[in-house]
Amino acid sequence: MPALAPWLSGTAAAFSAALAAGRLPGSVIITAASGLGVEALAAHCARLFLCQSRAQGEACGACPSCQSLNLHGTHPDFMAALASTREEAQQGHDLTPSLSAAVENAGLASLDTGGQARAIRIDSLRALSGWLREGSAMGAGKVALIANAHLMAAQAANAILKTFEEPPRGTLVIMTAKGLSSLLPTIVSRAFKLQVPLPARAAALEFLAAEDPARAAVALDLAGGAPLLAQDLMARGVDLGARDLIASLCGAINGERGQEMAFAAKVRELGAADHGRTAVMVLSYIIREALKAKAGGAAPALLGQAAPVLIGLRAAALMAAHGALPALMAVPPQQDPRAPLAGAISLINTLVEGKGQ
Ligand SMILES: [Zn+2]
Repeated sequence: MPALAPWLSGTAAAFSAALAAGRLPGSVIITAASGLGVEALAAHCARLFLCQSRAQGEACGACPSCQSLNLHGTHPDFMAALASTREEAQQGHDLTPSLSAAVENAGLASLDTGGQARAIRIDSLRALSGWLREGSAMGAGKVALIANAHLMAAQAANAILKTFEEPPRGTLVIMTAKGLSSLLPTIVSRAFKLQVPLPARAAALEFLAAEDPARAAVALDLAGGAPLLAQDLMARGVDLGARDLIASLCGAINGERGQEMAFAAKVRELGAADHGRTAVMVLSYIIREALKAKAGGAAPALLGQAAPVLIGLRAAALMAAHGALPALMAVPPQQDPRAPLAGAISLINTLVEGKGQ
């Protein structure tokens, strides 16, 4: 069984204690920020619930249920509804019946700046609800996972309300979400609620165990303190790209020769693999931090020498620039190579208008 990341263990223990004490209602909501590995935690909880001979709050690893998960990564009594990617939605595949696929796919919305995660389909939830009402194949209950439950539209959530009102015996619905506010109050009130804490910065940096601590610090800043997201950003070199992006943006605002083009090139480079999403994430972070620093907060180390330049801009210009960020993603770069460039220049112009006299 894969070991849980250290910051997930407390939440796992709380689930395990409630399960052992028979205090678990028919549904559990686990809230967590992106990049904390909530999918792995949900899989851990499902595995524990389905185990036929739990001991000391751990799945045994040897019963038919655990074996099914260990050998095949699937289980006849486990099903997941996931918010699908655009591609999956087009193909109509957003009900994935396997645990391994659930864990793999649930990482989809880890960077949700661009709203790429799609709503959970009402058909998927109806199918899931109907499936829960059928008997358990292995006789140890059933688990339905609704990953990114905050993406359930109210209409879709209503379709499964009956399942929450009268959960079939021995079934558990596990929902993961960014927060509780976008879930129907009826669903929230009936569920056992768990929240994954953000690990302390020192612990997160220790987990990243990077050869270059400065890179790890930058990635962790960009990831909002979430270590798995930081790891992903480092693997993609986003932290290094972000430094260059900030330097060229600062140069462009100062009117330095060639920096406009350098900035546009960096935007395109950072966003090449994901239609601009990463570039927008980084720029959104920079602008939000500059606004916070204007309001008296400390500027993160990542801003470096650009900090006074960005903080010196008028808040209205920073906010306008932030509002214009989605334009950088509007056109996939491969369709029109000039599009992100135009967006980048327009962004610089918006910021330059915010310069003081
Ligand atoms: Zn077992």
